[in-house]
Amino acid sequence: MPVSGLGEYDDSNVFARILRGEIPSRRVFEDEFALAFHDIAPQAPIHVLVIPKGRFVSLADFSARGSAGEIAGFWRAVGVVARDLELESAGYRVLTNMGEHAGQEVPHFHVHIFGGRPLGRMLP
Ligand code: AMP
Repeated sequence: MPVSGLGEYDDSNVFARILRGEIPSRRVFEDEFALAFHDIAPQAPIHVLVIPKGRFVSLADFSARGSAGEIAGFWRAVGVVARDLELESAGYRVLTNMGEHAGQEVPHFHVHIFGGRPLGRMLP
């Protein structure tokens, strides 16, 4: 059971469709745990999304139900993607929106990686 208040996992969500290859994405990384691709509406010069391969609706769901291997593999992938994008020396921001107050739009857990310019304050 998902635990985040977003309901059951919906296999028709846009990231599930990207994982299945039903709609295109500009992929930058893939392994057994994670897929990373450019956001379709970038909010920074570099704006990449990293998603786990499993059916998790949110961070709350992933942290509660993900196996230790899935969790370790996913977060390692986030670091690898940022390194591969050459963001480490200048720095970058990782963000996840969880649920209504954060404005989560896509009910498949994902983190945003932002970089390529000074990113300003954490919240507007
Ligand atoms: P969130 O508000 O955290 O759920 O963020 C969802 C993100 O998914 C937004 O930044 C959207 O621009 C992005 N997005 C939606 N559809 C696509 C798509 N087909 N390919 C890439 N990114 C997408």
